[in-house]
Amino acid sequence: MLRLEGASVRFAGRAALDGIDLAVAEHEIVCVLGPSGSGKSTLLRGVAGLQPLDGGRLFLDGRDLAGVPAHRRGVGLMFQDHQLFPQRDVGRNVAFGLRMRGAARAEQEARVQELLELVGLPGAARRAVATLSGGEQQRVALARALAPRPRLLMLDEPLGQLDRSLRERLVVELRELFGRLGTTVLAVTHDQGEAFALADRVVVMREGRIAQAGTPLEVWQRPADAFVARFLGFDN
Ligand code: ATP
Ligand code: MG
Repeated sequence: MLRLEGASVRFAGRAALDGIDLAVAEHEIVCVLGPSGSGKSTLLRGVAGLQPLDGGRLFLDGRDLAGVPAHRRGVGLMFQDHQLFPQRDVGRNVAFGLRMRGAARAEQEARVQELLELVGLPGAARRAVATLSGGEQQRVALARALAPRPRLLMLDEPLGQLDRSLRERLVVELRELFGRLGTTVLAVTHDQGEAFALADRVVVMREGRIAQAGTPLEVWQRPADAFVARFLGFDN
């Protein structure tokens, strides 16, 4: 459903994305791994339409996305730094995308309730975002990204600030939820365990390029090169 052909982004002459070719199938969950600065967030922002490409093309369901503004792409993005509305309560933050779509109030409230339970924050709807911890804010951001049920959902370190037990629970629940809703997912994580538990396919990035793409088992059993092996923590 999503296809990148030679997608490139340069900042001050340096390639942050250097000719990325990647296809994501409908209903597939793809996790992007890679060191800090390897271009993971730039990749997601490019697909979302928040970062113009300097080269290459993007297709969503066969449609060329060149010139299509972010809000018309039908993709959801959860940012690495959440970007919640700090002065609004949790419920209004989660319902943001639903309001934009003109969803009925009753539907908004039911969905907010359901999602806050999913992320382990039942009863938080009336709290001000500014009073939440970093991890709680991250969970609100996740609920907000899920609320409009986008066909393609992109998550940038969605569970990064959460403790291990919550992460492990959420990974299982999210995989089940994405399967149930038929959501296609492109997620960035720095946690290999999380990527391997969540993904149908993992993509390992290095300096704006794809070092390896394959099923978790393939990448785990047969790292493409010494970089991938080292990144996965094998000492050879
Ligand atoms: P992290 O794991 O730390 O989030 P990342 O893989 O998401 O890293 P990106 O944020 O995609 O990395 O950045 C890739 C490269 O592009 C980095 O060298 C970064 O400094 C650079 N870069 C990203 N955004 C900008 C920008 N707006 N202006 C200039 N350089 C940028
Ligand atoms: Mg990033």
